[in-house]
Amino acid sequence: MNIGVLGIQGDIEEQEEMVRKIGHNPVRVRRVEDLSKIDALIIPGGESTTIGKLMEKYGFMEALRNSDIPILGICAGMVLLSKEVLGRKQPLLGLMDIVVRRNAYGSQRESFEEDIYFKGEKIRGIFIRAPVVDRILSDNVEVIAKEGDNIVGVREGRYMAVAFHPELSEDGYKVYQYFVEEVCNL
Ligand code: GLN
Repeated sequence: MNIGVLGIQGDIEEQEEMVRKIGHNPVRVRRVEDLSKIDALIIPGGESTTIGKLMEKYGFMEALRNSDIPILGICAGMVLLSKEVLGRKQPLLGLMDIVVRRNAYGSQRESFEEDIYFKGEKIRGIFIRAPVVDRILSDNVEVIAKEGDNIVGVREGRYMAVAFHPELSEDGYKVYQYFVEEVCNL
C-alpha cells in the first residue's frame, strides 16, 4: 500500500520509517494533489493548531472531508480528527465523533512512558503533551486503547486516532499494523 504521511509539520520521518517497517510504501503528502497517490493517510504528532491552520490554507480540510481515504491520527492528529476541543476553537477535520482535551496530562506530566492497553494487549505508550478523549459522541466510536481510565485510542469506521506516539516505541508497529490490516481493509 502507498501510505501517505501529511508532511506539514511534526514527526514526519518517524512515521515514514514505521510505514517501511511494516512493509508498505511511505508517500510524503505536501499538497492536496498528492492525495490521489495514496491508499491511506497518517497525520503525525506535532502542533495541532499549526497543522490545522496550514491544512485549511492548503485545502486539505475540504479535500479530506470529501474523500474516503482511511486516516490514522497521532497525538496532534487525534486532535485534528476530533469534532471538538474542550475550551478552544481551532481548525479541525471533525471526522470523528469525539471531544478531546488537549495537553490533558498537564505540565507535571508533559511527557511520560507507561504500559497501556491496545486492543486488550499491553504495549508501551509514550505520551508527549498528549490529548485524551474526554467524550465520545456516538456508538460508532470504538475505544481501542486505554491508559488507566483514560481513553487514548479510538476507531470509527475508516478513521483511527491515538494520543500516544507508537512511532517511538519498540512495539508501536502493532498500532500501524492494526490500522493497515483492520481499519484500511474495511
Ligand atoms: N499538544 C499537542 C497538540 O495538542 C500535541 C502534541 C503532540 O502531538 N505530541 O497539538
